[in-house]
Amino acid sequence: MKTFPMFLTMTGRRVVIVGGGEQAAQKCRLMLKTEAQIEVLADGLDVELHSLAKSGRIVWTRAPITPAQFEGAALVFVATGCPGQDACLHMLAKAGGAVVNVVDQPDLCDAITPSIIDRDPVVVAIGTEGTAPVLARQIKTRLEETLEPRLGDLAALAGRLRGFAADRLGPRQRRDLWAWVFNGPVRDQHAQDGDAPVAAAIKAVITSGKVPEKGPAPVALVGAGPGSSDLITLRGVQRLQEADVIFYDRLVDPGVLELARRDAERVYVGKEPGCHTWPQDRINNLVVSAALRGQRVVRLKCGDPGVFARGAEEAEALAEAGLAYEIVPGVTAASGAAAAVGGFLTERGKTDTLVLTTGRKADANERPDWIQHLSARSNVAVYMGVQSAAQITEVLREAGLVDVVQVTAVSNAQRANQKVLECAAPDLVEQIAQAGLASPAILFLRRTDDAHVAARSAPVALRAV
Ligand code: SAH
Repeated sequence: MKTFPMFLTMTGRRVVIVGGGEQAAQKCRLMLKTEAQIEVLADGLDVELHSLAKSGRIVWTRAPITPAQFEGAALVFVATGCPGQDACLHMLAKAGGAVVNVVDQPDLCDAITPSIIDRDPVVVAIGTEGTAPVLARQIKTRLEETLEPRLGDLAALAGRLRGFAADRLGPRQRRDLWAWVFNGPVRDQHAQDGDAPVAAAIKAVITSGKVPEKGPAPVALVGAGPGSSDLITLRGVQRLQEADVIFYDRLVDPGVLELARRDAERVYVGKEPGCHTWPQDRINNLVVSAALRGQRVVRLKCGDPGVFARGAEEAEALAEAGLAYEIVPGVTAASGAAAAVGGFLTERGKTDTLVLTTGRKADANERPDWIQHLSARSNVAVYMGVQSAAQITEVLREAGLVDVVQVTAVSNAQRANQKVLECAAPDLVEQIAQAGLASPAILFLRRTDDAHVAARSAPVALRAV
């Protein structure tokens, strides 16, 4: 290690920043996270620094710069934006005995500012000694995903209750208490509901002197989103990283699985359309027995686990086995598909009813009932619709609506092979065949016999986006 990471106490200490432009402002923003007194030495200030000086958050000094101005400073940042000037100022700051950071000149730096993940008071600093800033950013992104936004609040709460716990509990109990707080459902609850309920629960445990035993974690039914891996939620990523075993579906993007711990077991339980390789009962049994063995289980489903995902059946099997479950929502395919074509699922004054429906019923002989929802102002999103295109057209024809419905079909939304097709309902089957549009796809059905809708639904040609 050529550099050694340390957390410096900044409260009330002087930090000098030389420069009045954007580079200086960047350093200033960083230092404003601390409780340091910030002094900026510059002839002039940009608007941001100027307003900070006006509000008293920083002190602006215009006097000619001498080594004396750096004496006693905890840190000095040289950031004028001019490398030559920075080198001269570096000498003055060193003459004043300061620890100096010169922007973009590592050879002149006594201290380097790390990449920071800020969950104050929890702070993670990442440094690569200037060798790989891109890697530092990647590590930062990964950690940002895993450390929930409210983690700092939980740490601060623990800090406030530390004395109370020390008065009431022995060392062993305190260790168990904080493991209970940071390791399991308490932390999850804090991530969702914040300080109030969690503070009450921790205080009650300290008062009773009995730290709850760690029970099995609930099975997480996690929505993976419709396609690219950055459409899963942060909570979903967190559950993936905690999981010992992940049961995943056919349409889950491989990139999402990469977000799991490397040593997590991944079990494919996909169903091919039409041929149920993995009967639902078998999936339920697998999930239940893994949870009963004490493994942390994620059941990963494409889109949202509550939309055409048979989540309810799995939840019921878990409940019957006395196991708790948690639903982690995801971006459903209709949202992904609408966004992918720059469209909106509802529009004020134009579309006020959104219907999520399926082209395939559990009982294949049953007639679909979405037709009753197809009004002039509704947007009907049909899941699993490609296979049922002929039936959809037929139902529209029977209802006398086939000539007033425009279809937008989006297959593989939010994936590299996304395809979009717009056509009038009578041409649907033929256009799907011509375009080679395959499952998974969402079909949006909209009536064109409403003035607003008619105005915006000029047919467009097939395009791959
Ligand atoms: N739970 C999922 C739906 C699963 S049912 C969700 O909330 O999205 C499977 C159907 O979802 C597919 O037949 C298709 O209609 C739709 N679907 C899933 N991923 C899709 C994607 N990337 N693009 C278009 N449709 C998709």
